[in-house]
Amino acid sequence: MTHNFLLPLTGSFAQPAAENPTVAMIEAAFAHHGLDWRYINTEVSPDNLAAAVQGARAMGWRGFNCSIPHKVAVIEHLDGLGESAQIIGAVNTIVRQQDGSLIGENTDGKGFVQALSKVVDPSGKQVVLFGAGGAARAVAVEMALAGAKHIIVVNRNPDRGHHLTALLNEKTPTHAQYHAWDTTYQIPADTDIVIQATSIGLFPNIDDTPDIDHQTLLPNMVVADGIHNPPQTKLLQAAQARGCQTVDGLQMLVGQGVIGLKYWTGIDADPEVMRQALLDLGL
Ligand code: NDP
Repeated sequence: MTHNFLLPLTGSFAQPAAENPTVAMIEAAFAHHGLDWRYINTEVSPDNLAAAVQGARAMGWRGFNCSIPHKVAVIEHLDGLGESAQIIGAVNTIVRQQDGSLIGENTDGKGFVQALSKVVDPSGKQVVLFGAGGAARAVAVEMALAGAKHIIVVNRNPDRGHHLTALLNEKTPTHAQYHAWDTTYQIPADTDIVIQATSIGLFPNIDDTPDIDHQTLLPNMVVADGIHNPPQTKLLQAAQARGCQTVDGLQMLVGQGVIGLKYWTGIDADPEVMRQALLDLGL
């Protein structure tokens, strides 16, 4: 009997890396789908990023994730970018092609849209998006590419808000507008989808919640929150009490993993197995 002891490798480069739960989610999917692959979670400092990418190339890694602080810096070490990664200007998933070249993709927003699409099709919809940081940018670009008609960007810092609005208007087909966030925000009644993409409410600050007038949340609106820990944020609880359908940040994280696995292995991974692996960690 012949054996193959050479296993396909994937992994992650980030700093810090110890609190990143992605390895548990991805390896649960490998096991569930009978793939003898490995996902290696590594701590890589900015000074070592070039060497780490070179190492992944040398060892024939099938792909890897990049998280904080490498999402922008990794681009110069790659051979090309996917469409949305190019617009967003940041990469979190690197995919090795047949010819060995490394292509950067951004699954932050793709995972979100995949999770959201199970509840509502973004095409033709009016969206209110809170936040203008890295996650908000990725989500906004993917919502625009998925056909959202109009996106209102609500952000505390006006410069970042205007910057994202301009990016959307210049590089995507959507119409975007900036709204200041200096008082309790009233959601316009014609809104279809409300997206919370700031860091407000992330563990350990779980009692913090974005300054939104909950009375303006209407039952026909879908409310999504990018915070994955805890998945049941105060905003989502308020939205459910108002009769809205909701999408939590764990679904976004799982959606990213599903897309990454598709890029690397070609399989359609079971999101429930991956979500359960994260829940088993107490997230
Ligand atoms: P950034 O630091 O790039 O952006 C933070 C955003 O939050 C900015 O828009 C900032 O506004 C806003 N913000 C922070 N504190 C406040 C506050 N007190 N009041 C109003 N606005 C505030 O972070 P990221 O975009 O990278 O990440 C944001 C969140 O998204 C994180 O919590 C992260 O966990 C989550 N995320 C979830 C993912 C998932 O898969 N579920 C994937 C990626 C991210 P301002 O510009 O005014 O400072």
